[in-house]
Amino acid sequence: MNNNNNINDNNNSTSNNSDIIQPDQYGRRLKYLRISVTPACNFKCIYCKPHTESSMGLSGEKVLSYDDILFVSEVFAKLGVNRLRVTGGEPLVRKDIVPFLSKLSAIDGIEEIMITTNGSLLTKYSDDLLKAGVDRLNISLDTLNAERFNYIAGANMFNETMAGIRTAIRTDFKQVKINAVMIKGFNDDELLDFVNFAAEENIIMRFIEFMPVGNHDLWNKDNIVTNEMILQQLAHLNPQQLQKDKNTGPAVNYKLSNGATIGIITPITKHFCDDCDKVRLTYDGYIRSCLLDDREIDINDAIKNRDTDMLIECIKEALTIKAKEYDKNSVEVKNGYNRTMSRIGG
Ligand code: SAM
Ligand code: SF4
Repeated sequence: MNNNNNINDNNNSTSNNSDIIQPDQYGRRLKYLRISVTPACNFKCIYCKPHTESSMGLSGEKVLSYDDILFVSEVFAKLGVNRLRVTGGEPLVRKDIVPFLSKLSAIDGIEEIMITTNGSLLTKYSDDLLKAGVDRLNISLDTLNAERFNYIAGANMFNETMAGIRTAIRTDFKQVKINAVMIKGFNDDELLDFVNFAAEENIIMRFIEFMPVGNHDLWNKDNIVTNEMILQQLAHLNPQQLQKDKNTGPAVNYKLSNGATIGIITPITKHFCDDCDKVRLTYDGYIRSCLLDDREIDINDAIKNRDTDMLIECIKEALTIKAKEYDKNSVEVKNGYNRTMSRIGG
């Protein structure tokens, strides 16, 4: 560990916490923390951020310091979490993100550091991210068409994003995946283009169902592109389901006859709550047990006082309220969630 927030340096009694967090009441063991480092973003994706929000999405609000996040991450690591994903907003727009990632990757017990990014800054950052210890990247890309890109992302940055993606693919990360949120009548006509892109670039292309967390005006259950719809459209490429491994996450992966590997992620129509091993840390100091559940545990006092025992109690509480599965009624309504996706981190 190379930062100042060592869990054992404070005046709490807890020194070895590895057996404190047991599997939750549904047998799920916490292994994965998803950390949002900022609500700010250089894009304004039509399905993610409200149109009314300023382009960077910051309004002088409180954001945890890097030292705060390192303290929380160290406690999670002591409790058995071994994988961290950094997200946002757009994580690469936050100042000094690279030195922070170096410290994060040096935490004892952390086996993998992953980032979810819109890709627009990867030409600049790929090498530095690799050196900082980032293992895997998920890059979001919802279209391969420049004009459509500008419309969806609300930012004229198609060329930068494609260049960033190609730079990242050429950098020695363990894995680069591309994620597209598929929305009916919006970008589902590009399914084959994405699949060809995956084959050409030899990357995993994942298709994610549209969720009602973000721009509610656009949300409609009928706009979801389901697993069945995708497999039907790709039937001529003879999709063969692949075995899961620890990096498959919630996706079901398929190999196609054109050489592409795709993943399909179905949080709404075929949820994967039974296997969920993660919680989220919001940029403003709350633990969110489930993306699709607004109940959050405020950990700001524990952070402010560097109080490890208080934080562990908060984490236990977050695991206690983590539902067996998400509430299906919550996705039926518009404006169903308090935070937009850009304020949760996906
Ligand atoms: N800015 C980064 C990016 O775009 O990858 C990280 C944050 S973004 C909130 C994380 C992921 O959430 C992205 O892959 C994005 O496409 C996805 N996302 C945002 N709103 C969504 C929605 N309503 N339904 C499904 N996925 C969504
Ligand atoms: Fe920004 Fe990512 Fe949301 Fe797009 S999906 S607005 S890039 S946070």
